[in-house]
Amino acid sequence: MPLTIGVLALQGDVREHLTSLTALGVTAIGVRRVAELDGCDGLVLPGGESTTIAKLARIFDLDDAIRSRIAGQMPVFGTCAGMILLADRIRDGAAGQETFGGIDMTVRRNAFGRQVDSFEDELSVTGVAGPVHAVFIRAPWVEETGPGVEVLATASDHPVVVRQGPLLATSFHPEVDDDGRLHRLFLEGF
Ligand code: GLN
Repeated sequence: MPLTIGVLALQGDVREHLTSLTALGVTAIGVRRVAELDGCDGLVLPGGESTTIAKLARIFDLDDAIRSRIAGQMPVFGTCAGMILLADRIRDGAAGQETFGGIDMTVRRNAFGRQVDSFEDELSVTGVAGPVHAVFIRAPWVEETGPGVEVLATASDHPVVVRQGPLLATSFHPEVDDDGRLHRLFLEGF
């Protein structure tokens, strides 16, 4: 049986993740309900707007279900807004902004600054052979990590790819490139 990977489909670049995952031979489905989450072996939290995704997750009654899957060691991959949602602590969040948490880190939203809202870089990522083309869009960076967090890549001296057990997060958007190596790294965690 191939793995079934859900992509939280409330807002953001859901289709790009579904395409990246399908290309790697897994079954990828959009998740909007707990019943859909129940059928998943792992979950992707896409890029988009973390405040909107968090609000919708609460409205759709998915927030606590996702927290309990994370607590139960379900593999979860968050990109950009998804990284923010996996952070135990955030800076420059909207008033009262909540996350699902799971990774023992502090993430600063929109950290790379207004004047460079979007930029691209070539990164070296531990566990991935060769340079990775990284697209950053109003991206967060990681400011502090706990002892259980591995830093797999940095940009501007800040972690931008981190892993804690089955949880993986990137500040950038591997789903917008026809690359697949970061998604494969996530799938290697199963
Ligand atoms: N700045 C966005 C947020 O706070 C994230 C941007 C993105 O996912 N490209 O959610």
